Amino acid sequence: MSEPSRYIAESAIFGDTNLVDWTITPAMRTVAANAKSVEDARNLLEMLGLIEPRATAPVEATVACKRHCAKCDRPGRHSSESLQKWPGTVAIVGRGMCRACYTAVLDEERQTRDAVA
Ligand SMILES: [Zn+2]
Repeated sequence: MSEPSRYIAESAIFGDTNLVDWTITPAMRTVAANAKSVEDARNLLEMLGLIEPRATAPVEATVACKRHCAKCDRPGRHSSESLQKWPGTVAIVGRGMCRACYTAVLDEERQTRDAVA
């Protein structure tokens, strides 16, 4: 077991948020090392009481968007608008669908057409 992990195992009890100061940094490092994503790390650190919970915390992070893909229902934006302006959205490129769905539909139609011909 690596050094920080050993300290944490020795000193931390699940649910104990009153960690001794010198265990906090190693604990945060361990969380960071084991987290699968930034969100994961943040959630773990919040759970451990090592960081302040975010004030603005709508549990379901709603993506601001004007429309959704007609097929997969992912939040969408007009194809001329930038991803920076509409983070977390997909561009709606054809028949109200995102590129992945639209391409799939076109492929299906092409196959159907070729099968007939
Ligand atoms: Zn889609």
